Amino acid sequence: MRVTVDLQLCQGHSVCMDEAPEVFRVQERAEHYPQVQVLQVFPPPELWDKVREAARYCPNRVISLEMIPSTDPENPA
Ligand code: SF4
Repeated sequence: MRVTVDLQLCQGHSVCMDEAPEVFRVQERAEHYPQVQVLQVFPPPELWDKVREAARYCPNRVISLEMIPSTDPENPA
């Protein structure tokens, strides 16, 4: 799984960080909306459910998830 965020549209609601703090961190910025930082662009499978919840509940719907071929034979998805 690859995680991307459209930073042009992220407004720092922090819902993503509440759902998956291992993957998303929201940082304050002077004179702008807070904005998310993706800590793990390729999160491990055990975090995928939390990342999916973050994408589902992001108020701006700016989190994109892409399933990519894995090089790990233990985790083929
Ligand atoms: S919930 Fe969505 S809009 Fe809010 S910080 Fe996370 S990615 Fe950005």
